[in-house]
Amino acid sequence: MTHQEWVAQCIELALDNAKQGQAPFAALVVQDGHLVGTGVNDVKATQDVAGHAEIRALQAAAKYMGTRRLAGCVLYTSCEPCPMCLGAIYWSGITQVYYGLSVAEQAAFDELPAFQYAELCRVAHERRVQMVQATPDNIDPRRPFNHAYSAGA
Ligand SMILES: [Zn+2]
Repeated sequence: MTHQEWVAQCIELALDNAKQGQAPFAALVVQDGHLVGTGVNDVKATQDVAGHAEIRALQAAAKYMGTRRLAGCVLYTSCEPCPMCLGAIYWSGITQVYYGLSVAEQAAFDELPAFQYAELCRVAHERRVQMVQATPDNIDPRRPFNHAYSAGA
């Protein structure tokens, strides 16, 4: 199948998901031309804000392949991934994504992903979400990392 055909399949799945009352997103993970993971947005059904189609497709692919490392796979999605899903794509090792609708085009329906990308370009103190480092005086926040990354851990 061509990249456009995989994206077309995502768009059809997204339409089916919308017809079932869910958000209009779907994604597929493909390895060497074979489907290894399918995901649709289930945020409304699960009340899980992380229930985006790309996240669900990555989870399905990781379960199917027995590894979270999906380097070499391709992610197809009905809509350009939001920053959360892009982060998950980076964690997975996937380096190729093909999408149908762009974030800019999606903004006609929902401006939040475009807003989130703009937020990421701002310095931390100018973002809507306040983030403050609050290091305790008597506990080194590196302790869990020192343990996790020490030899033999
Ligand atoms: Zn997303």
